[in-house]
Amino acid sequence: MFIPSHIASGYLLGRILKCSSWTVYPFIPILLFASILPDADGIFSSTVAGHHSVLHTPIFWIIIFAGMIVIQKWKKMEILKPISLGLFLGTQIHLITDWLTARTVGIQWFYPFNQTDYYLYQIRPEEGQVTVWEMIQNPYFSFYMENAVLFWAEIGVTFIALSLTLSNILRNKFSNK
Ligand SMILES: [Zn+2]
Repeated sequence: MFIPSHIASGYLLGRILKCSSWTVYPFIPILLFASILPDADGIFSSTVAGHHSVLHTPIFWIIIFAGMIVIQKWKKMEILKPISLGLFLGTQIHLITDWLTARTVGIQWFYPFNQTDYYLYQIRPEEGQVTVWEMIQNPYFSFYMENAVLFWAEIGVTFIALSLTLSNILRNKFSNK
């Protein structure tokens, strides 16, 4: 999945979740940031197919989340509630959408116990031997568009998130008058 659709899916998740002491500020900004955070490993990888490091495994984020909860309880730091939940949910929605839209590399759901790569549609790692910066260029982009269902699902998610953001902005603008 591309970065804009990752942010869009994080945003939609944020809209779905009800307000509680866990989803107060800065839950949403952290959730949006976390929805692209696992792709930081792309910066250090030479190929698209090889860019999934430990940042693309659930266990890494479960450990971080558990650590933050322990600190929150111990130090009574309420601010860590929205931060830890935003970080956890944002990274998990990233992994789920990467799994759904996997083209050249899947998700190792059970790492480190099992290193099987999981994906929905058959992946083609040989197509992912380009740098992450070449993802929006051909031949990679044409290959990416070949799966029309996934490609249009990504466009759709981004479109829905943008429409909701826009309607929110307009509603706020008119209700302030
Ligand atoms: Zn990713």
